[in-house]
Amino acid sequence: MSQTIHVLPDHVANQIAAGEVIQRPASVVKELMENAVDAGATSIEVHILDAGRTSIQVIDNGAGMSPEDARLCFDRHATSKLQSADDLFALATKGFRGEALASIAAIAHVSVATRRADAELGISIQCNGSEVVGDEPKAREVGTTFQVKNLFYNVPARRNFLKSDAVEMRHVVDEFQRVAFAHPGIAFVLTHQGSNLFQLRPGTMRQRIVGILGPKHDERLVPVEEETDVVTIQGFVGKPDSARKTRGEQFLFVNGRFVKHGLLHRAVVRAYDGLIADGQHPFYALYLTVDPARIDVNIHPTKIEVKFDEEQPIIAILKSAVKRGLGAHNVAPTIDFDAETGLNITDLKPGTEVHEPHVRINPDYNPFESRGGAPSPLGGSRGTSAPKGPSLGQAHGGWSRPAASGWKDLYQVLEPDANAEPNVPQDNTPAASPKEQAALAQSHGLEVLQWRGRYLMVPVEEGVAVVHIRRAHMRILYERYLSAIQASGMAPVASQTLLIPEDITLTQPEVMALMDARESLLSMGMDLQRLDDQTVQLRAVPADLTSHIREALDAVLETFHEGQWDDAEARHERWAQSWAARGAVKGEAPMPMEMRRQLVADLWSCTHPNVDPNGRAVLSVWAAEDLENPFR
Ligand code: ADP
Ligand code: MG
Repeated sequence: MSQTIHVLPDHVANQIAAGEVIQRPASVVKELMENAVDAGATSIEVHILDAGRTSIQVIDNGAGMSPEDARLCFDRHATSKLQSADDLFALATKGFRGEALASIAAIAHVSVATRRADAELGISIQCNGSEVVGDEPKAREVGTTFQVKNLFYNVPARRNFLKSDAVEMRHVVDEFQRVAFAHPGIAFVLTHQGSNLFQLRPGTMRQRIVGILGPKHDERLVPVEEETDVVTIQGFVGKPDSARKTRGEQFLFVNGRFVKHGLLHRAVVRAYDGLIADGQHPFYALYLTVDPARIDVNIHPTKIEVKFDEEQPIIAILKSAVKRGLGAHNVAPTIDFDAETGLNITDLKPGTEVHEPHVRINPDYNPFESRGGAPSPLGGSRGTSAPKGPSLGQAHGGWSRPAASGWKDLYQVLEPDANAEPNVPQDNTPAASPKEQAALAQSHGLEVLQWRGRYLMVPVEEGVAVVHIRRAHMRILYERYLSAIQASGMAPVASQTLLIPEDITLTQPEVMALMDARESLLSMGMDLQRLDDQTVQLRAVPADLTSHIREALDAVLETFHEGQWDDAEARHERWAQSWAARGAVKGEAPMPMEMRRQLVADLWSCTHPNVDPNGRAVLSVWAAEDLENPFR
């Protein structure tokens, strides 16, 4: 019997392995850049010819290699970074397999020139298809230069598989950006055919993001910071109104490594619920630091995936950190100047605290002053916090017939409250937060112009704010519903008891689902009782929805049929979103002054007054400067 099993020659094995690690020029760029980072370089230049087909050169000023190491580095499993299998779990460097250079050398003409600080002379080595074909001493700076020429020269299938130069270059730029994002402290240069694509100075994360994505990004960035035992989070997310239709500007790094992680990605996106429309993608560049012993990055040869020991807590922390960041930095004008200095803050040093913006309070405001007797219908739905006019309260306090116009609905939201003294704000009610009270105080006596029916024009510190009435009302209702269900202390949603309860026939699963969610529906103002297997009785609805009863219930059932039921938070957000859309005024009828003020005050006390629950702009501000310019 002849022997049929034989061990593959090294260069063949390397070529096979190369297929896994090196798919295209961009993979070479990534591996060489990461090696330079691992070598402690503070400056890394990448020069590309013909999208990397002809030449990829990476020059670094890192530690360099001794002549012995330089000869060894092309060997398979030659690495200075990992000595035993245990080290795998405590990785701080990018490379660890000693695979990259061996793979690259198997399928290209590679040369390396390098010098360590302790050597007087450097060395230059030439390696073709895994064979070292020559070396010679070479004078050079401390550091290393790799040049990879004629990639895939001996693998025609691979070479033919490459896409157009534009596509390959796009991949190169992607990899370059990821490494550059991950290391803002390192200077990077990228050229193609001799012209500069990127020239990035070392700096802060913010400066790096702006350096890569362009100066227009500066004002869109919202810092995110969180430090816990499990994970430290730093970085920036985009303001909701800068979200894009196309995905792409989303970067997640774990211990300095760019990763793709579906669940973490979703956690970030979920923090934007109710701030951007479906199908829009927020920008983010977030840097997570986790104890290296508690992650596994060795599950894929290209090392883009990562596994955490404590995945769920990290997901929850990430989402709440992003949410908080967005909340702290996305507030309406006048309340906002402290937070909106974003343009001048070019860097946010690690450890800098993010403060909630301060509310400016009118010092002349006297809460016991007569408020002119006009009620504030919009405010009525947050319980007892808003001043109430007795006449209106009586006239419209009960609901019997559905109102003809959206405006009448507004008046109906007033709850009868026997103890409420007219014209005196109830200072001690837990219902109105200090922020709400301050916003109300601020709007007191404010001249608000209703323009073309749909807009309010409000004088603010920065100039004049133009508020889209319907969207503003949607935002207000949305936050009110959500805070009611999350019991976050804001104000209870006013519920309107139906004079004639409505019996509704549904399917059995629908009735079961509704009964499961009975408590949360109740806290949002909808009272449902089960009559039998297929009938529920609607006894009360949120006051803003009295003329849309069935639609309000349908919105709830929609989330059940569309499979969002199991995720309580998601389904509540959906309810709030559709209820807000149905309950919000159209913005056509003229509004009494007091109602305009109330709308402004309510909007100002929202967490995210700038966008409606679908991510559309609620307000824009005419800068005082622009307004005054013609008079100069
Ligand atoms: P890995 O990075 O997984 O260790 P590589 O094949 O990428 O494997 O590199 C092999 C070894 O070559 C590295 O461990 C390192 O010691 C050395 N090396 C590679 N690139 C550089 C560089 N730019 N500067 C200094 N040493 C380098
Ligand atoms: Mg490497």
